[in-house]
Amino acid sequence: MLKQAHAISEELIEWRRDFHMHPEIGFELHRTSKIVADELEKMGYRVRRGVGKTGIVAEIGEGGRVVAIRADMDALPILEQNEVEYASRIEGAMHACGHDSHTAMALGAALLLSKEQLRGRVRFLFQPCEETTDEEGKSGAQRMSAEGAMNGVDYVIAQHVDPLKPVGTIGINAGPSSGGVDSWHGVITGKGGHGAHPDKTIDPFYLLAHVIFALNGIVSRRLNPFEPAVVSIGSIHGGLTENVIPESVSITGTLRFTSEELHQQIHAEMKQAFEVARALGGDYELRYEIGGPPMINDETVSQVIEQAGKDLLGAEHVHAIEKTLGAEDFGEFMKHAPGAMFTLGTQKQGHENYLLHHPKFDLDERALPIGTALLVETAKRFLAM
Ligand SMILES: [Zn+2]
Ligand SMILES: [Zn+2]
Repeated sequence: MLKQAHAISEELIEWRRDFHMHPEIGFELHRTSKIVADELEKMGYRVRRGVGKTGIVAEIGEGGRVVAIRADMDALPILEQNEVEYASRIEGAMHACGHDSHTAMALGAALLLSKEQLRGRVRFLFQPCEETTDEEGKSGAQRMSAEGAMNGVDYVIAQHVDPLKPVGTIGINAGPSSGGVDSWHGVITGKGGHGAHPDKTIDPFYLLAHVIFALNGIVSRRLNPFEPAVVSIGSIHGGLTENVIPESVSITGTLRFTSEELHQQIHAEMKQAFEVARALGGDYELRYEIGGPPMINDETVSQVIEQAGKDLLGAEHVHAIEKTLGAEDFGEFMKHAPGAMFTLGTQKQGHENYLLHHPKFDLDERALPIGTALLVETAKRFLAM
């Protein structure tokens, strides 16, 4: 399988560079998804366009099990700082999370699978908007799932590049490998007035200070220390000038968690923290934008990927995933079928390697056939199970 994937290296690189030069953001992936859909049609896939706005669902094979392979296609609002011939030609947009390569490798896998005699069906999910959500707070995977992209799927797999691991390695293990995420927005209201007469006001900054203290105590004092979670504050806004105590201040932040119980507990603890504002004579509002669930790799699916990785790359090149509470909306697809995501080593030799979302992020294209081969090999093993 590796050999077959190496044989299409040129196509993989060409696709990846084309997407890299023409990054598109969020759900506005018109060019990218058209190219993907056209290519898949040429390969003989049954293609549904416009699933979840600009998502593509494409299937091949008949009867049997359905294994889904997901690739995200969206870029980020970042000004690229790489000086390479394939650098972004769109100012302020950049494939800094490697989704250009995810799309290229999935296309490569689709090409190789189209030449196989399949015992079942393979469905490709090319999704928009992994990085963020639309005005209704919905991500690409949420929108595609709502439009039936996962109906009838038995297993779902995906991969993500890892710039800190060498080419020729993958990371995979069962269990939580990324965090569930919510954004939260609070407003703390007191009573405004003259800065010289705080006694005639209910100072919202004073209330806020106590609320922050209580928020920062949630993870360290209230949650099980064996359960990873984060409560972070990202912005505070309030007041216009130095001698006026304002009526209210606003505060926003993000939550990360690895189980639904923990998610519920954090919401309860946050309510308690904001109640401090009420106890001190003020009031508050608190609302959430519910983001993706945590990504929890399924035991069986992880084992199949791990075995495929060991057979293709050698056992010493398959390692456990470095856990992170970064969010990944692949978890949305995994609500509908057991699944797992593996990481693909893409570290550039002899270069400084930048993290995902960095304006100088880049990857070693020699990893492209490896990711492609693993997708194909894993999908075939699921159909043969
Ligand atoms: Zn990202
Ligand atoms: Zn990503």
